[in-house]
Amino acid sequence: MPVCDAFHRVITYLRVSVTDRCNLRCRYCMPGSGVKKLPHKEILRYEEILKIINVVSQMGFKKVRITGGEPLVRKNIVFFIKEIKKIEGIEKICLTTNGTLLPNMAEKLYKAGLRHINISLDTLDRKKYAYITRRDAFGQVWKGIKRVIELGFDPIKINVVLIKGFNDDEIVDLAKLSFEYPLAVRFIEFMPLNHTQLEYGHCFLSAEEAISRLKKLGKLEPIPSSELDGPAKRYKIKGSLGEVGFITALSDHFCPKCNRLRLTPDGQLRPCLFSNREWDLKTPLRQGANEAEIKRIIEDAIAHKPKNHGYVKFISRRPMSWIGG
Ligand code: SAM
Ligand code: SF4
Repeated sequence: MPVCDAFHRVITYLRVSVTDRCNLRCRYCMPGSGVKKLPHKEILRYEEILKIINVVSQMGFKKVRITGGEPLVRKNIVFFIKEIKKIEGIEKICLTTNGTLLPNMAEKLYKAGLRHINISLDTLDRKKYAYITRRDAFGQVWKGIKRVIELGFDPIKINVVLIKGFNDDEIVDLAKLSFEYPLAVRFIEFMPLNHTQLEYGHCFLSAEEAISRLKKLGKLEPIPSSELDGPAKRYKIKGSLGEVGFITALSDHFCPKCNRLRLTPDGQLRPCLFSNREWDLKTPLRQGANEAEIKRIIEDAIAHKPKNHGYVKFISRRPMSWIGG
């Protein structure tokens, strides 16, 4: 039976951050020195995460996203994906990655049954890429994108964080990728979480502004979204192979349609990205809680999911790289 929260939203989507570790240092996500690492023993083992996914699948959850940190740096991630594939009820498994390790891993991921992939890429310029991520890895990411296209992943979404003064001059070129390749280019409004190294006031660029710049490519025809598609406002531009989308977490928040819960690498369930309230699953799991007990905690977290984030200046206790975006 699907589970509703107090505001009649049906919760069907779990985002699992499998690691706090990352091989990049994106300026909007973390400081150059990185963020404090979680001790190894605090990080949930795959079998513990699978137990949680099993429970939510029985509660009507249909979609799981694997994120991080950088999920592909965690050992045996391919094994983990194969195990999720076996869980009845989970119809959609997605991965969000920075793409740096895809050249070697794309095929293994495909063979494990993964088809839905989001790759983060904020610029098409190698030097700018090295600036924003503090690593010279553009070539690897581009190779990774080509590889997933070749293999036939579908959909392939390219996540672009909109940053004024950095990539606003590339919005059209980035969108044009959807003409050349079967890609869904999704522009994400910059969120001023407190570990970002960019000044929000100077860097924020609204999706509305990005949309107005894309009009020169043609009329943006809205594409309807299904329940499992996520919060992006999607558009098709005539002549393109793919599509463009916009994620407006702040300027036009999608709280009324939010159907997700987040699981942190150290086993905390977070009903809202913009709230520090968490429900501990790790301790009960390690004390031998059975499925019914885990289910009760998840139900309680869902019952307390806030109506909206009413965001003004939210200070997250955890960095974005621990929560998974
Ligand atoms: N490391 C993977 C990656 O970069 O795709 C997965 C984790 S990352 C935290 C998930 C997404 O969050 C990425 O697309 C990233 O661009 C986005 N993100 C990180 N910090 C952000 C911020 N301050 N505002 C908007 N998006 C952000
Ligand atoms: Fe790493 Fe992703 Fe954060 Fe960039 S956005 S530092 S790739 S976790």
